[in-house]
Amino acid sequence: MVIEARPSRRVTGSEAARIAKQMYGLDATATPLSGEYDDNFRLETASGARYVLKIMRPGCDRAFVDLQIEALHRLAELPVPRVVDSVKETGDGRLVWLLQWIPGRLLTEVRPLTNQVSASLGRLLGKIDHALEGWNRPDAHRELKWDLARAPWIRDYLRYLPRNRPLVERVLDRYEAEVAPVLGQLPQSVIHGDANDHNVVVNGNEIALIDFSDLHYTATVCELAIACAYAACGSGDPLGSVAQVAGGYRETHPLEDRELQALLPLILTRLAVSVTNSAYLKTTHPAEYTSDLYLSVHETPAWIALEKLAAVHPRLGRYALRGVPTTLPIPKDAAPLLENIDLRKEPYIVFDLSVGSLMLGADPRAMEMPALAETLAGKMREARVRVGIGRYNEARLLYSSPLFGTGHPTEERRTIHLGIDLFAQPGTPVCAPLDATVHAFRNNQRHLDYGPVVILRHETGGNTFFTLYGHLSLNSLEDLCIDQPIAKGQRIGWIGAPPENGGWIPHLHFQIILDLLDLDCDFPGVAFASQRELWLALSPDPSALAGIAATPQEPSKTETLASRRALLGRNLSVSYRDPLKIVRGWMQWLYDETGRAFLDLYNNVPLVGHSHPRVVEAVERQIALLNTNTRYLHDNVVQYAARLTALMPDPLRVCYFLNSASEANELALRLARAHVGREDVIVLEHAYHGHTNTLIDISPYKFDGPGGRGRKRWVRVAPLPDPLRRDDPSAGLEYARAAGSLIDGPITFIAESLPSVGGQVVFPPGYLAEIYAQVRASGGVSIADEVQVGFGRLGRWRWGFEMQGVVPDIVVLGKPMGNGFPLAGVVTTTEIAASFDNGMEFFSTYGGNPVACAAGLAVLDVLEQEGLQANARVVGDHLMSALRGIMMSALRATDPPSIVDVRGAGLFLGIELRDGDLASDAVHRLRHRGILAGTDGPRHNVIKIRPPLVVTREDADFFATTLTDVLATNGHE
Ligand code: PMP
Repeated sequence: MVIEARPSRRVTGSEAARIAKQMYGLDATATPLSGEYDDNFRLETASGARYVLKIMRPGCDRAFVDLQIEALHRLAELPVPRVVDSVKETGDGRLVWLLQWIPGRLLTEVRPLTNQVSASLGRLLGKIDHALEGWNRPDAHRELKWDLARAPWIRDYLRYLPRNRPLVERVLDRYEAEVAPVLGQLPQSVIHGDANDHNVVVNGNEIALIDFSDLHYTATVCELAIACAYAACGSGDPLGSVAQVAGGYRETHPLEDRELQALLPLILTRLAVSVTNSAYLKTTHPAEYTSDLYLSVHETPAWIALEKLAAVHPRLGRYALRGVPTTLPIPKDAAPLLENIDLRKEPYIVFDLSVGSLMLGADPRAMEMPALAETLAGKMREARVRVGIGRYNEARLLYSSPLFGTGHPTEERRTIHLGIDLFAQPGTPVCAPLDATVHAFRNNQRHLDYGPVVILRHETGGNTFFTLYGHLSLNSLEDLCIDQPIAKGQRIGWIGAPPENGGWIPHLHFQIILDLLDLDCDFPGVAFASQRELWLALSPDPSALAGIAATPQEPSKTETLASRRALLGRNLSVSYRDPLKIVRGWMQWLYDETGRAFLDLYNNVPLVGHSHPRVVEAVERQIALLNTNTRYLHDNVVQYAARLTALMPDPLRVCYFLNSASEANELALRLARAHVGREDVIVLEHAYHGHTNTLIDISPYKFDGPGGRGRKRWVRVAPLPDPLRRDDPSAGLEYARAAGSLIDGPITFIAESLPSVGGQVVFPPGYLAEIYAQVRASGGVSIADEVQVGFGRLGRWRWGFEMQGVVPDIVVLGKPMGNGFPLAGVVTTTEIAASFDNGMEFFSTYGGNPVACAAGLAVLDVLEQEGLQANARVVGDHLMSALRGIMMSALRATDPPSIVDVRGAGLFLGIELRDGDLASDAVHRLRHRGILAGTDGPRHNVIKIRPPLVVTREDADFFATTLTDVLATNGHE
């Protein structure tokens, strides 16, 4: 194989612009695009028209360009670039051509790939291959290093490999044994041949393929293998990613069995070619290697994907790519699994042990022994049953041993239960449901958490399948021997007691296995959710065989999304490109329906932690006794008002309670208007104060945004102080004067003490003092919206206005007040309260109800007793300095720098990035690494951090490291 050297001199942007003018009469700026051999540019004219200018490598054959042009014509119906103008030749003999620019972002920038994107890439490639079928040209028969039919060229280059050469050799051996002999007989056609993520453009749900310079005639399935190899790179679950792309491809281009058989070895081979090519160029052309992101960026992910995929059992790989073939005919007349307990006739109880189990709640102590054992036994006693069932295909957080996944809490753990549990008395005899042969057993007490385990082999109707019995007692296995026949109904053991049963509550784990994958007693009983379908297919629902009703399934995420779309207003927003379904929250952690844990850095509502047991208990106790409106006397509301006002400076002494911050801001406006006697209001640019009619009118973020109806006559919008000038001594006065110039009579001024939607803004010194003074001088009042920042989040300050050394006339409180239980409030002066008391009754049915106030009181207790404001200061300062460190390195490393500013106080922080795309990609990637954050600011380029105040230094460090990584890899995950 001749590895073509790359051209040593690349065409510059200004040369390209000149060529575009000369050849095509285009006045355009030219920006270089990546390309291995040819020089590609994006052209942009003054009117905004965009093109791709391709200047081919010196000496490039005309036929090579014609080949691509013909392919693009054949694919004209599909999302590929159109050819805009004819091929030309420059003075020094280089071929030039002009293509349509496809708007969107390269796949590499939207990584990690969602399942939907992977599948639609597969579908598009299937359509492309379908359209190219039957087309052949002599010049498509190329000697290309990427042609998988020529892969063995790497054999001579293995000496360059820096690591794991034997692995690459094994892959090549497998290729030569399994693929090479059949590849020539598989369907052949011209393929695109390089669906890597620099050649795929994503625009919303649309996906397009570009760069046809690797077109070649080969086995068609190589198209899919190449795409799969790239999808596997950087994926946490390469097998799952490959299965998604292949699944999509098969929808539009069916594959023969022989092609599917060759697919996994071809994917491995492609990865092997990739790492060998990189290793070779790194040694022989180091400058070229390091300067080419395209090469260096894929190398490590390619190694990781290669190592992970090569470790997959070949049959498991085939099942992932083409489905598990066997469907099991379940014999109807199986014998009961537990002796003398026929669950077809006898009642049993089904437990919910899922991540979102209401029976267990979020407190992890409920899942520990002996608490869990007592809960289950209690429920069984109550229901007067001998058997409790643990469900099949249930995502559980019950498995804590390292066998189920180690490392950081956000890393994926095994959660999906592949069998059923039959909870019953220890010593209950376990019997074979069908005629069988003993296939394997093991009596290691802690083996895989199964404890002593038996596997039986069954042959029915030409099918072989296996059943697994876990958590038996040790003496179960004494009399068994391999290949011993077992008759239907014959005892094979007894339910074991802890600790000999693996340390679990006495029960039988029962599982069907269609293919043991040579794992025998090591076959998993719990799978990773990312491979759920595959393992469930290998271990189908054993309920029928056990004589119980099939497990009803909870709605999948897709179903929930569809129901939400059908039943709820469409503009009820949902976060993330691939929405999250969250079913459990504990302190700073949120868990999705598969049991994946996320560090919640975004939610300011659960101030003292999700499901804090003190708040939960307070609410439970009160709601079990009384919840009613405030027309009757009750001590909770007055106690809460006393505690709250004690935390406020004078003269803020009078409280009103409501159910949401929007209601509270509404009421605050009514109070202000009643006192001031005029409706006019000054607000800050980009502000958001709530969702009611009047609040939309005072929220420029809404009235100036999509669907907004513009500014009302009575609203004045003052400039939002530039957060980058927060330390500028003259800025406070300057901005306050600008706001003050809008005062034309007694007026109400409303602002968040640190504007959040505005981009986590910290005001310059003196700003609020000056504007508050001017407003008061006009006979007006100032409202501080403390909905996001109040209650100690800022660390050094309990309230945001304290940071500015001012006391507002009205304070609005919301979100975190009840830690998730609806509670909001307004605190004001006796004078303003008196103005409001004008004869019209004030009443909010549920504002200040006994349950809400019980939650509020518990929140204040926890804040105090757990020192959470101090924690916000310590962890916030720590995180701030880590983030400032990252910003300084970013300033040195990238031009323009990825981080522009880091600001905020305590656990209310903003990380301003270069642009909104970078911020939204970072948030998307953080989510895939298990961290939830959000974006805000007028340009949506500020990452917003406002976690529950219980986050730790370790969490802060984890976030800082992950963010560094996410920004450094910038699309190359
Ligand atoms: N004020 C501010 C500053 C807010 O951020 C919000 C909610 N994001 C509100 C008021 C309104 O709160 P709610 O949606 O709870 O009514």
